[in-house]
This record gives sequence, C-alpha cells and structure tokens, in this order.
Amino acid sequence: MATTVLLPAGFNDFHGNTPAVEGLRMAIAAGRLPHSLILAGPQGAGKYTLALMLTMALECERQPRELWSTGQSLATYCGVCRNCVRIGSAIALDELVAAAVAAREELRETDKKETRVLIQQHPDVLIVPPDPPQLLIKLGQVRTLIAAAQYVPAEAPRKVFVITAGNFMKEAANSLLKVLEEPPDYAHIILCAENPGELLPTIRSRCALVRLGALPVEELEMLLADRRPEWQPRHRELVARLAQGAAGRALNFDLESYVAARADALLLLRSGMDDPDHSALFRMTETYRAGAEGQTRTTVLLRTMGLLLEDLLLLCAGTPERVRNVDLRAELERISAAVSFEWIERSSRGLDKVTSGMRRNLLRNLSLDAFAGQLAEKVQ
Ligand SMILES: [Zn+2]
Repeated sequence: MATTVLLPAGFNDFHGNTPAVEGLRMAIAAGRLPHSLILAGPQGAGKYTLALMLTMALECERQPRELWSTGQSLATYCGVCRNCVRIGSAIALDELVAAAVAAREELRETDKKETRVLIQQHPDVLIVPPDPPQLLIKLGQVRTLIAAAQYVPAEAPRKVFVITAGNFMKEAANSLLKVLEEPPDYAHIILCAENPGELLPTIRSRCALVRLGALPVEELEMLLADRRPEWQPRHRELVARLAQGAAGRALNFDLESYVAARADALLLLRSGMDDPDHSALFRMTETYRAGAEGQTRTTVLLRTMGLLLEDLLLLCAGTPERVRNVDLRAELERISAAVSFEWIERSSRGLDKVTSGMRRNLLRNLSLDAFAGQLAEKVQ
C-alpha cells in the first residue's frame, strides 16, 4: 500500500488501546515491565510500532516521565537521543528486511544457508523478523538472540529483543523456551503475535500477555476527520478501510499516489471489459519505466490492482459491505456484473506472476501489457 511508516512522535500519537498502553508505560516507569511479553493482536493493530516505542522508553538516555492525573508516572521517550534515533529507525522494517535479504543473496551458497535475517540498528536492541522465504522464526535466529542475551548491555540501560511475528519453526520455539525460563535481569523479550493461540503453551505460560485490538473503521474516520480535514469524506472512508484498523497507517496514507495508481489499475481492469481503449492503455503502461522510481510506482500499481480484484471478489460473493474502495463502489459493481469468479481468480494468479516477474526484473511495461492482454482474453 502507498504508505510510509512513521514512528509516532510520542505515546499520545499511538491511537487506540489506551488502557493497555498506559499499563505498559506505568510498568516501565516503575521498573517492572515483564521480562517476557507477548503483544497480541490483528495485523495493523500496531504491535511492532508499540514494541519499538516501549523499547525506546526503556532505552532513552533522558528517561522522560509524564505525570498522570492520578499521580502515577508514565514512561515515554525523547525521540532525539542517540538511543531513541537508532532504535526508532527500525520502524522501516520492511525496507530493512529487504536490504538484509538482498545482502544475503550476494553471499556464496554455503554462507547463505548459515545467514539468518536479523535487524540491528542499536547494539543492545535486536529485531528478529520471520526469515524469508518461509517467513518463519528460525533456530539460527533464536540462537543468535540467546547468545546476545548473555552479554550485558553496552550502550543502553537494557538489552531488548523484539520478535516481530509468532510463527516459529518447532526447534526455534523450543530453543526460545530456555531463555524465557530464566531471562537475565537486564533483558526484555517482546514477542509480537497475531494469534497467541498458535504459540507453544509453554511459551505463553512464561510470558505476560497484552492484547491490542484493531480500531474500527468509524473510529479511524473520526480520527481522519480531525487530522486530515482537507480530504473529502469519501476519501477518508476509503483510507479508513484500507488502513485495516491501524491508525498510523491511516494518518500516513499517501492518498495521492494511491488514487493515481488506482486510476491506472482501473484502466487495466477495463481492458478486460467489453470496450478496451488500447491506445490509452499502452500510453499508461509506457509510463512504468525501469529504475527505482518506476519500480516503486509499479509495486503500488500491482498492490492496488490486487485490492481492486479483492473488492470484485467481495461483490461477487455478495458481501458488498466489506468492499474497501468504497468511493468506487458503483464502478466496481458494474465490472463485477460483467466478470465471473473464475476470471477474478485467474486474474489474481496473473497478477501474482507479474509481481514475481518484477522481482526477477523482467521488462516492466511489457509484462504489464501482457497482463492486460490476459485480462482481455479471460473476460466472461
Ligand atoms: Zn531518547
């Protein structure tokens, strides 16, 4: 999606789940944040963002406090000290993981197998993302975590380990148990999990569990009405739906790029309809050139296309209330009436192919043209 992830400037900019967040901040201020913590909640609830914010609150050189009306002290972070800046830079997780994976690709085959993807922007904070391509937390990653946990922090008050997802390889989960059983005094392990039920019961029982809920669409719309008054209400509703419960994603949404990409995606979709305008189509695909900028635009286009196909599927399935591109509902209804389930499914598979071709650097506009041709063939 066309968004840049930004770290909230402070806890007051982390929307939703206030009681849970305040409980954690109070615990940090009192020096009793559990050493092993599960942040559980659906995608977009802000688990990873909150994990980083808590880490900054633990590690901030200035250790600022906010006084609550009840007299209780809440931990926060300054955002500008050397610890905050380095830890905060890990918010761009997708980009950091992509760079680490690309660096691994450059290694010799034998080294590749030994190299696990880990993100370390600060010597005392280790981020453990699911390792591609299987996207599981692997034994090698947990072993690195355990080894690092043996050393006292070098530059910050604490050692913090953030595991960004709850899907473990079995031996990795078993291995993690050891450190959860007896974490060193200075160490905190924060495990983000969509579904804590998938974790080993022995892991769950050794961790404190904090649940985060996704924000309802209406609440996000209200937030956007307040913070993005310049947007039209139909666009605010659109972004509220696309953000999938995540306030940060909604507030940082790049509406302009999304709407531009969607116009192109619609042109592609229409090429699969009765009366395609081929010259407009080729003029459009021509603009998707090679190079970094072209790659970013193409990625947004393909994701947007995927969302439109999902919406068509929702309309065909008789669940129009779940459509996300609400401002285009009439147009999408018209298209959905003209196509079949099968066409949508095959188009989605075609889209997956273009996406993986992109990763292999096939000529972009050619594969887009081929995809458009494919859409046209498969109508009905
Ligand atoms: Zn700081």
